[in-house]
Amino acid sequence: MLGANDGIVSTGSLIVGVAAANVPHAEVFISGVAALVAGAMSMAAGEYVSVSSQWDTEQADLAKERAELARAPVLEQQELTDLYIRRGLSAGTARAAAEQMMRRDALGAHARDELGISEITTARPLQAALASALTFTAGAAAPLLAVVLAPAPQLVVAVAVVSLACLAALGALGAVAGGAPISRSLLRVMFWGALAMALTAGVGRLFGTTVG
Ligand SMILES: [Zn+2]
Repeated sequence: MLGANDGIVSTGSLIVGVAAANVPHAEVFISGVAALVAGAMSMAAGEYVSVSSQWDTEQADLAKERAELARAPVLEQQELTDLYIRRGLSAGTARAAAEQMMRRDALGAHARDELGISEITTARPLQAALASALTFTAGAAAPLLAVVLAPAPQLVVAVAVVSLACLAALGALGAVAGGAPISRSLLRVMFWGALAMALTAGVGRLFGTTVG
């Protein structure tokens, strides 16, 4: 969902900026394709790095915790007890809770309550990277399709309208899915989309007239 938003805003505003500089239709299209590929790759790379490094950190923390549990289980149980006391349990209840938690799944209890790792998942960086590249591409395809279909004089308006309409649809979908008020979510995504396109259009117009 977020990737699609990014795809619409970044590709849409790049196309609007290039088109506002009175560049030939074919070159506007090529710029749009390049923006789509560059954006999708940068989303994929960013996601891959972020998921992998998060996984590395979690694995290192878990390995350390596992070693500590093996070396000093009594100390680790005390650690958990203190944690529960700090969170509001009485000393007796905290001790009993820590003991039961440790008996069932010591590493799981420490991972959750001490490290804040909610479930010991196997993160899939490649899958995450592919998903963000695909959602970005789906979003970027909308303004690019407008370039293909719109006649040259209406290019800027067509791309802006299509981009804003897609942003609105995504915003409404997101609000419905999240149970949030639709109008606020719509206003937010459309404001940022419109601002991005207005800015790049201004820059395109400025340089288009200066250079051309
Ligand atoms: Zn611990």
